[in-house]
Amino acid sequence: MSHVFPRHCHTQPPVAVAGDGCFLIDASGKRYFDGSGGAAVSCLGHSNDRVTQAIKDQLDAVAFAHTGFFTSEPAEQLADLLIKHAPGDLDRVYFVSGGSEAVEAAIKLARQFHIENGQPERRHLIARRQSYHGNTLGALAAGGNAWRRQQFAPLLVDVSHIAPCYEYAERRADESQFDYGQRVAQELEEEILRLGPETVMAFMAEPVVGATLGAVPAVEGYFKRIREICDTYGVLLILDEVMCGMGRTGHLFACDADGVAPDILCIAKGLGAGYQPIGAMLCSDHIYGAVERGSGFFQHGHTYVGHPVAAAAGLAVMQELLDRDLPSRAHQLGQHLESRLHAMFGQNPHVGDIRGRGMFRGIEFVQDRDSKTPFDPKLGIAAKLKKAAFAEGLICYPMPGTRDGRVGDHVMLAPPFVATEDELDAALDSLQRAI
Ligand code: PMP
Repeated sequence: MSHVFPRHCHTQPPVAVAGDGCFLIDASGKRYFDGSGGAAVSCLGHSNDRVTQAIKDQLDAVAFAHTGFFTSEPAEQLADLLIKHAPGDLDRVYFVSGGSEAVEAAIKLARQFHIENGQPERRHLIARRQSYHGNTLGALAAGGNAWRRQQFAPLLVDVSHIAPCYEYAERRADESQFDYGQRVAQELEEEILRLGPETVMAFMAEPVVGATLGAVPAVEGYFKRIREICDTYGVLLILDEVMCGMGRTGHLFACDADGVAPDILCIAKGLGAGYQPIGAMLCSDHIYGAVERGSGFFQHGHTYVGHPVAAAAGLAVMQELLDRDLPSRAHQLGQHLESRLHAMFGQNPHVGDIRGRGMFRGIEFVQDRDSKTPFDPKLGIAAKLKKAAFAEGLICYPMPGTRDGRVGDHVMLAPPFVATEDELDAALDSLQRAI
């Protein structure tokens, strides 16, 4: 009997014993193509020599030095590299151990920024329905997934949710793509005015929504309008690129494609690429400057922030992404993936939508393509598909539809960027058999 909590009680997952490129291998020797990179983590595959060597070297040099006393070379170098390529004027980095921690840090930094600026009443966070920003209590409160929230409610009270930019299900037939984006962005302004701008701290969103909607990018112009609204009312824009960042969408940072830069950016998953738990929160100098001039330190912290071995892994991952121009490869391979998905599943009567950017793709399943009516979530279509694909040796990331019938069952594909076209084609054959 395993004494480790499994993901779901009453299940006993196979034991992963080895990783080989884009494949994971279990104790029986079965190989699984990592079609979702875990959960959009494994951008470099599972046996990258450069990252592994960097970790070993750092362990030999120094494993741990508490940031209350020291900084470390890999943390400084990684921060420099992130800043050099980050959007807008983001130029300070706070390292954490994962996505939820990055989001928690972002919420607290936004709050502290307004306090230091003499506006302590700005404490309200606006996020979007059907969003996921992590599982710690603050991040859970930020997220707008009704099912996840309800069992732990009441959560933090100063959070409200507006509509996501989910064109597939929500754009009206008589509306252009652009007009649709402007209309949903307008909900932010309405919500800020409803609450009173002097009470609103920040707006948080994923540029490309991952887990909860299945690789849904915003339509053109949406985030530009969101940026304008935030600027008009002094509301900070926090972008959560925990899942969609680090090259996955074909840009190093997903928001580059939307032509906007946030005040605070959260990254994780692909930064450690599965080799080490690491995330980061980046902020612009005007935010850090307020903290520096005010109380003089960010009133937040965890023991393992800026861990040297995690930073060494992150640095090697970042160097691999840049030196091999892997975001461009994610773009090119993503185009192959997109055309194969449309060719193989575009006419399937139960496939309602195929979407995404780069190596970040989602397929949504419906009762029939014309009405686009989602399946009853109780049927567990996505979970069944995950199981069938796993039996075929393919890992894909499932999400059930929402109970309000607005979002159907979907699966997300987020393979390593180092996959070959042949490997991707074989994985899609497995998916077809599973479907
Ligand atoms: N934000 C987003 C957008 C995510 O997808 C996730 C994880 N799925 C998180 C935050 C939380 O990250 P972690 O699981 O590393 O805490």
